[in-house]
Amino acid sequence: MPAHTNKVYTSTCCYCGVGCGVKVTLDKNDNIAVEGDADHPVNRGTLCSKGLNLQYTVNDKSDRLLYPQMRYGKSMPIQRVSWDDALTRTAAVFKTFIDKYGPDSVAFYASGQCLTEEYYVINKLIKGFIGSNNIDTNSRLCMSSAVTAYKMALGEDSVPVCYEDIELADCFFVTGANPAWCHPILWRRIEAHKAANPEVKLIIADPRVTDSCGLADLHLQLNPGTDVTLNYAIGRALIEKGNIDTDFINQHTRGFEDYQNRVFERTLKEAALICGLTVAEIELAADYIADAKGFLTLWTMGLNQSSIGVNKNLSLINLNLITGHIGKPGSGPFSLTGQPNAMGGREVGGLANLLPAHRDLNNETHRLEVQKFWGGTTISDKPGLTATEMFEALDEGKLKAIWILCTNPLTSLPNARFAEQALKKAKFVVVQEITDKAETLAYADVILPAAAWAEKEGTMTNSERRISHLQKVTNAPGEALPDAEIICRFAIKMGYKGFEYKGMEDIYKEHTRLTYRSSININGLDYQRIDKSKTIQWPYNKKTEKGTKRLFTNHLFHTESKKAIIHSPSDELKSELPDEDFPFILTTGRIRDQWHTMSKTGKVSKLKQHLKHAYLEIHPKDAVLLDIIDQEVLVIKSRRGEVQVKAKVSATIKQGVVFLPMHWGKILGSDLNRANNITSTIIDPISKEPDFKYCAVHIEKYKKD
Ligand code: SF4
Repeated sequence: MPAHTNKVYTSTCCYCGVGCGVKVTLDKNDNIAVEGDADHPVNRGTLCSKGLNLQYTVNDKSDRLLYPQMRYGKSMPIQRVSWDDALTRTAAVFKTFIDKYGPDSVAFYASGQCLTEEYYVINKLIKGFIGSNNIDTNSRLCMSSAVTAYKMALGEDSVPVCYEDIELADCFFVTGANPAWCHPILWRRIEAHKAANPEVKLIIADPRVTDSCGLADLHLQLNPGTDVTLNYAIGRALIEKGNIDTDFINQHTRGFEDYQNRVFERTLKEAALICGLTVAEIELAADYIADAKGFLTLWTMGLNQSSIGVNKNLSLINLNLITGHIGKPGSGPFSLTGQPNAMGGREVGGLANLLPAHRDLNNETHRLEVQKFWGGTTISDKPGLTATEMFEALDEGKLKAIWILCTNPLTSLPNARFAEQALKKAKFVVVQEITDKAETLAYADVILPAAAWAEKEGTMTNSERRISHLQKVTNAPGEALPDAEIICRFAIKMGYKGFEYKGMEDIYKEHTRLTYRSSININGLDYQRIDKSKTIQWPYNKKTEKGTKRLFTNHLFHTESKKAIIHSPSDELKSELPDEDFPFILTTGRIRDQWHTMSKTGKVSKLKQHLKHAYLEIHPKDAVLLDIIDQEVLVIKSRRGEVQVKAKVSATIKQGVVFLPMHWGKILGSDLNRANNITSTIIDPISKEPDFKYCAVHIEKYKKD
């Protein structure tokens, strides 16, 4: 029986970090229909192609996992079992490893698509009770460079701006992002604002000519990996013409002198040469910024997913700091989150190096505060394994058991064939999933069926710190359970106290209590209060019952000195550079109508019409040199493996650079289409985010043996 019938529910789109509000109607046949929520402050009734087709992913249950399954040995067949059997055995195996090899022998690998309540209980379980920090998520692949840079520059992982700033800005610098495809509803707000205000300037920095570039006043088609050099050159041009905010710099920042020295190390001509741009283009970008009353920088994976992702982020944030464009309407550094609840995960400290409510794992007082609150074991001061480190540890035999939920790492991790081999070596693998198509299932010792979007209740926080409450609309099929409930049942099987929640809101309230006195304070917030005003942006003031649109309006930052820090790291790229054997630079990314590894969007025939197959975007001149024609099958090789896809010959990419979409894998296609067969194993040394945007590849025509 459906949970409710003939009723309209409110929820939030489960794809990107824009966080569009949706209304979900359940009919008598237990099918849902989705439409944009006209009263929602983010999207005002509109939805992009992915959001408009959300219902198909829920209504089509043909691929859903319906009951727990388990095998009693690696060579044994997997078979249906009860929830009790599955969780009892999993608890017994985890206990055995923890007793024999210590708490760091087990790990959880989760997702920026988990709800905040789910993130919270997983984090509490492993850090507060098992006694390891081995919890990481696919947000590591997406946001960790931005998180690190915000902390280094502003003192905490605090996104200072809100979407309303879009309508208040008069200069946008969009870099390493294609919001027309990847954050479409935000993009429409930029388009509308620019259409109504033709004087508004849009600068886009991207090695590719994306759909977003069509609206740009200036497209800086820079060489891949040269973002820091470009940002420093713009900084130099601003300084040279006196277009910086000296009062703001003196009163509210530290590090400007070193920054000035750093940006003057290269002339604009030298920088332009490195970036593949002209001095005039760099100066024009600086002039647009100088003329702006409101200046927003917006970025995503093009900066984050790099061997120097943190440096790229810092060099961009500097442009806001030296011009004083932060903490005021229409201004600020705005990292657009990729996933719907990457921000919620950051709130609860759901990464290997974080603690809840922006507390610091290195800080003993913070560890003790959380430990006392949870009432469990000692919280370890040793950072846990990050995403790629987990799979390396599996390969080396140091990590014995891994629990993977809500993510498909064998398509999304770099060097995917290595990840596959590593998972094969794991002593024990738990996969908590909604679809029977996930590549991880082949290696699972235990499969736990999870409820999907609209089948469970909880909260998410979008890119602008806006918390929304997602109502449960319909029941999950078969015996599938909400992710948080599965984790809590497991924790109870492990014998831990503090997981006997009455429901999701009970978990949420506990999370909010732990934010008390922190910079993200939402203490006192509950579902009813969120519903009353549809959404709330943290921090929340219990007395006024109001959230906070923008941060740092008093220009007091979260650093010890209360000043923002202008960092001046090197612009030297640490990526795998092209050479004679692998002469092309490969960059990877998303396409408009697909989401991650296609476990949901791949089910929707309408979404497959946009771009039906994986492809390699290659410049016409490179195609001529290689004697390649459009649609011809190619073999793209790196030092790690190969991919076979058709050529898409197009002048939208720079010569010497090629692009592969990241979505394809076994779910829709084959592992020969999987871009991550060939991506680099290099990670940013501070954020540990992989370098998906740069590696050396060789391209040849496909020849039948
Ligand atoms: Fe969903 Fe993002 Fe599209 Fe909004 S912009 S409908 S959140 S995918």
